[in-house]
Parts: sequence; C-alpha cells; structure tokens
Amino acid sequence: MHTIHDERQINTEKVELPVRGMDCAGCTEKVSQALNAVPGVESAEVYLASEKAVVRLEPGKVTPEDIRKAIQDSGYQAEVPGDQEMAHREEESEAFSKRIFRFFGVLFGTVLVVVVLGEWLGLLQSVTDYVPGPVWLVLIAIAGYPVFRNVVQAALKGRIISHTLMTVGVFAAVLVGEWAAGLIVVFFMRVGDYTERYTTERARRAVKDLTSLAPQKARVTRDGTEVEVPISEVEVGDTVVIRPGEKIPVDGEVLSGHATVDQSTITGESMPVEVSDGSSVFATTMAQLGSLRVQVSAVGDETTFGQIIKMVEKAEANRADVQNYADKFSGYYLPVVAGIAGLTYLISGNPLATAAVLLVACSCSFALATPVAVLATIGAGAKNGLLIKGGKYLEALAQADVVLVDKTGTLTLGEPRLTDILSLNGVSETELLAYTASAEHDSEHPLAAAIRMAATDRELDISSPADFEVLPGQGIRAQVIGSEITVGNRRLVPDDTIVPQEMNTLESHGKTVLCVLQDNELIGILAASDTVRPEVPDAITSLKSMGLKHIELLTGDNERTANTLAKQIDIPYRAELLPEDKIEVVQQYQSDGSIVVMIGDGVNDAPALAQADVGIAMGAAGTDVAMESAHIALMRDDWCLVPRVFRMARRTMGVVKGNLGFTGVYNLAGLTLAAMGFLPPVLAAAAQSLPDLGILANSSRLLKQ
Ligand code: ADP
Ligand code: MG
Repeated sequence: MHTIHDERQINTEKVELPVRGMDCAGCTEKVSQALNAVPGVESAEVYLASEKAVVRLEPGKVTPEDIRKAIQDSGYQAEVPGDQEMAHREEESEAFSKRIFRFFGVLFGTVLVVVVLGEWLGLLQSVTDYVPGPVWLVLIAIAGYPVFRNVVQAALKGRIISHTLMTVGVFAAVLVGEWAAGLIVVFFMRVGDYTERYTTERARRAVKDLTSLAPQKARVTRDGTEVEVPISEVEVGDTVVIRPGEKIPVDGEVLSGHATVDQSTITGESMPVEVSDGSSVFATTMAQLGSLRVQVSAVGDETTFGQIIKMVEKAEANRADVQNYADKFSGYYLPVVAGIAGLTYLISGNPLATAAVLLVACSCSFALATPVAVLATIGAGAKNGLLIKGGKYLEALAQADVVLVDKTGTLTLGEPRLTDILSLNGVSETELLAYTASAEHDSEHPLAAAIRMAATDRELDISSPADFEVLPGQGIRAQVIGSEITVGNRRLVPDDTIVPQEMNTLESHGKTVLCVLQDNELIGILAASDTVRPEVPDAITSLKSMGLKHIELLTGDNERTANTLAKQIDIPYRAELLPEDKIEVVQQYQSDGSIVVMIGDGVNDAPALAQADVGIAMGAAGTDVAMESAHIALMRDDWCLVPRVFRMARRTMGVVKGNLGFTGVYNLAGLTLAAMGFLPPVLAAAAQSLPDLGILANSSRLLKQ
C-alpha cells in the first residue's frame, strides 16, 4: 500500500545522527556548514526540533565516526547510530536539565529581585567595595568559562555566535570595574542558556510525544504459533495478531476478526471506527472490543504514522519567510548594537552606558520568535489529525485570498452510487454493466468503485482487463474480452456520435454521466450521484465569514453537474477541467498576485495541490499521493478541519508578529535607555533575558488549539 520514495543514489549512503546541544536556529546552520565541509559528504540537513542530522555520504570516504567528530568540532554533541546507552543517558540528562531549569528559575527570580533592590538601595556598591577585584575576576572566569570558550573558538574561525555580544559586554563591564555587573551578566548568560534550552525543548517535546506512541513489539504467527517479537523483526506479509485493548503495531489489512478501533493518533478523531475483513488499519491506533488478525503492509518508518513523524520532522526545512527575515536581521543585529555602543561612547564618553548598550539587547530572541510558535502549532495540529508540513504553509495560509476546491472526493463524499443505466445499440444492460465493471477493475477512481459495486450487487462476473490505461480527468480505457472498452466523459466520445438526450437531463440533476464505448461505438451511458459532505455548507460559510471571499469549485466533471452542485453551496465554478487545466487555473490566480489554497483529495488533482501556495489534501490517511503532494494533509475526512487550520495559521502568525514586535520594542527601548545612561549595566544584563521568557509564554498558547 505504501510506496516509500527512497531518494538514495547508488553510491551514497544515508546516515542519521542525533545531535545534542542546539538551542537556536543559527546552530543548525553551523552544524550543517561543518558537515558539508567534510570531504565525502554529499549533503547534510540538520533539524533543530528533532535534534538530528541527516547526512548523505560516500561510503569508504567518510565514516559515521568522522561525521560525529565534525559535529563535535562545531561545538555540539553527536551520537553514532545504534548507541543505545547514549540514548538512555540522554533521557536521564533531560530529566536532570529540567530539574536544573527549575532551580535556575528560582535563582533567576531571586537574583533579579536582589539586584534590582540592591541597585536601588545602593547596597551593591558597598558589596563591591568590600570584595577585592581579583576575587570577582576569578569568579567571572570560572562561571563564564564554558561560554567564553565557545565564543573564542567561534571567533577564531571568524564566526559570531549568540553569546559573542554578551561576552563583549562582560569584558566591557570588567574594563570599567563594574565587577558585580560582570558576574551577574555571566550568571544571566548561563540562566539564559537554560531558559532557551527549555524553550526549544518544550517545542521539541510535541514531536517526541508523537514518536513515543509507536508500539515496540508485535505478536506474529510463525509456523502456526503466536510469538511476540520486537517490531524490527516484523516483515511485510506477516500476520500480526492484535487483542482487545492493544495498540496496532503495523499498517495492514484485516484478514479476520472484528473490532472497533480508536484511530485518533492518525486522524485526531476519538470516535472509534468499526473494522472487519478487508479494512485497512494503521500503526499506533488502538483496538477495542474484539481481536484482529492483520496482514502487514508496512512497518516502522514506512507506516502512515511513520510518515507523519518524518514529515513533521522535515517541516522545519519549510521555513516561513518571516523566519528567514528574522534570521537575516539577527545577522545585522550585532554590528548595529556594536555601532550604537561605539556612538554612545563617542558622544557621552560614559563607559557604563556603553557597557549597558552592549548588554541590554543581546539574545537569540529574534531568531526564536518564529520557530517556537510554528513548532507549537505543528505539534498541536498533529494531535488533531492535521499534518502541517512547515511554517511556510502556515504563513501562506494566513495570507491566502483564493481558495480552490476540487469536487469529487473533496466536496462530495467520494462514494458515488450508480443510479441510472441506459444501454444502446443492442447491448443488454447486464452486458453493459459487466463490460464497464471489468474495464474499471483496476481503477482507483471513486466512480469505478460505484460501477464495480453495482455489478457486484447484480452478481455479475467481472474479469480483470488487459492493457488498462488511465486517461486523467477523462476516464479509462482497457481490453475486455477481445474488444476495447472506453469509459468516461464526453471528451472520449467521437465527434460524429450522437449522444442520447437523456444525458443532458441526468446531468442537470447533478449526476455524473459516463459514456461507455466498445471499439469506439457508444454502447450506453451510466449515471452516478454523489452526496455533498454534510459539513461542507457550514465550513464554506465559515471560510467566507473569515474574509475568504473567493472560493471556487474546480472539477473535471461536466458543466451541468458542476452547476447544480455549485448552486447548492453558493460558490462559482469551472467545469470540464483536465488535471493540467487545474494547474493552469492555480497559476493564473498566482500570476495575478493571489495566494492560492487548493483543497483536493489527491486523485487527479495532486499536481494542482503541489502547484498551489498551500495544497490541502482531504482524508489523506493511507493515501500516499495525497500525503506527499499536499502541504497540509487532513488525516480524516472532515471539512470542519478546513476553517480550523485557517484559524490556526492566523493565530500562529499573530503570535509570531507579537513575538517579533515585543522583542523589537523591548530591545529598542532597552537600547535607548542604556545609550542615554539611564540603565546601569547590571539592570541591562538582567533585562536582556526577559524577551526569551516572553516568547516562550506567548508561543505556548499555541500548544493547545
Ligand atoms: P473531479 O475534478 O471532480 O475530482 P476527476 O478529475 O477525478 O473529477 O474526473 C473528471 C471526470 O473524468 C469525471 O467526472 C469522469 O467523467 C471522468 N473519469 C475520471 N476517471 C474515471 C474513471 N475511472 N471512470 C470513468 N470516468 C472517469
Ligand atoms: Mg477528484
């Protein structure tokens, strides 16, 4: 069922290494630069949220150990794959760092109060007077050593890191004899590290929570007996037994048994669904009331769940533009602050004010503003059946002005029923249906399913056709018992053929009418009707009320059918479009400057989904095309998710703007006060770590939505 696209080239090998210690967006950049510089490395991608590097390398030229060393040299820690013990230690150290964070949090507050009060009452000055300079110096050196070392190492390689400015500030404080300020700066610098670590850790956890859902063992039948084996030993084609109350460990098809399954891990829908013979089941979903025997179709990374995880992890690569701007801005930030400090010194000649300028406005906050918010929303989405492939798409969604909607399978249930059969030219109804059903035997189109179902209901014999060919957006063609059968819309009917009048009547009733040709001669028409999904009208109204004025129906179906349906939900339409016409419509709107959202089901509209600024796929669980071509995949067939994801996108971008605005205004105010000499270095240092906390608090609102 699942095709995994392995982009591996013949001569390269893919290695994944967990990387520890990356706290901000700039870090990933650094690691990936370091990796790409290693000879024999083809490409390297580094992900902040999932804390790993994916490296493509030429085997023989470099070893994973070389890669690990390169990462270490760039200032981070890496594990060579398979190092189980390390993973365990990592868990422990995570718990430890949480404890540390709490400890520092309390300390932070206390010191802040003490510093502010102390400064206000002038106590700090008297302490400074009592303790001799060299003692302060030693304390500063010891406490700040890890940071200073990183800054110096980076500086030697010509790089500036987030603590460079801080270190310059400490140096300035020491130079002007502000010993207490220097030490407190170092203290906040270290606390800031933990705050930042905690901030990213929190966003990361959303992804980690998901990964931990996957069961690690499966009960398979081997030589007639059931044995429990680790999931890594289960193979496609195996039979897995699932008992009531157990998590399903694989993707597969039910061979026997009945159960209700809670599929919320995939679809976000907590209402259990009934499964029985032939149903598809997904890894991580929970079987209730009943046991199942399931034939395995995918294991581990290749399951729908595994793909969700992979896509959520990859989401970081699809960065929002605003993040790119923020990062670029961060790059200019240091020289600008240094410039202001220089000017302050030149104009006022006040070394304290100069030191304060260097201290007040330094943090990773601008770079942090976007990814934390975006990751929170992606995590919240994944828990609700919304797979969002990156901040870029949230950004586009929040600004979108045109929404294009596919019909079959998207607006409609995609479960058409055959309603009318009209045979022509001496062919019987039974023959007509049998030929058509046989020709459609291998088609995945919902119309094909309707035809097959009607034939099965009449207990007709269906054979498997030869030379089956799909004519996208038009129909299909195949060889059935010696003749060529073509099924599809009017386009496929030769020009000189007269189609019966009934066809128009059926179409104006909103039915999809198919023509059946035997060796290019019309032998009958079939009509099918599909129902509009019940939640569509409300969802469309809600989109309109959100200010999305232009919602349009695109369909490959005929004019009359489209008209009837479009009237029902009160939106304009374009009919009789081929898949490539749908792409063109998307492009037209884009060239007019619109930001286009396309909603489809991945059948005949995947290229349009990919072309749109945001492609949203309905009911993507288990359909690879939809999962792969869409930018946002709805893991269950529920139109209520559409207005919801628009709302989530707008909220996210609102939070991002809030984060950036807050940081900007805060830092500007801080810089101004510091430059004018109103902010003592000690307070400046305390003030600089607040934006991070603000961003964390503001963005965490997005974790629950
Ligand atoms: P939509 O744009 O509404 O999703 P499609 O692009 O999937 O529709 O299909 C457009 C038209 O092509 C259908 O209305 C039907 O007439 C014809 N068609 C497509 N696939 C098939 C098929 N397997 N059998 C018969 N007709 C088909
Ligand atoms: Mg379709």
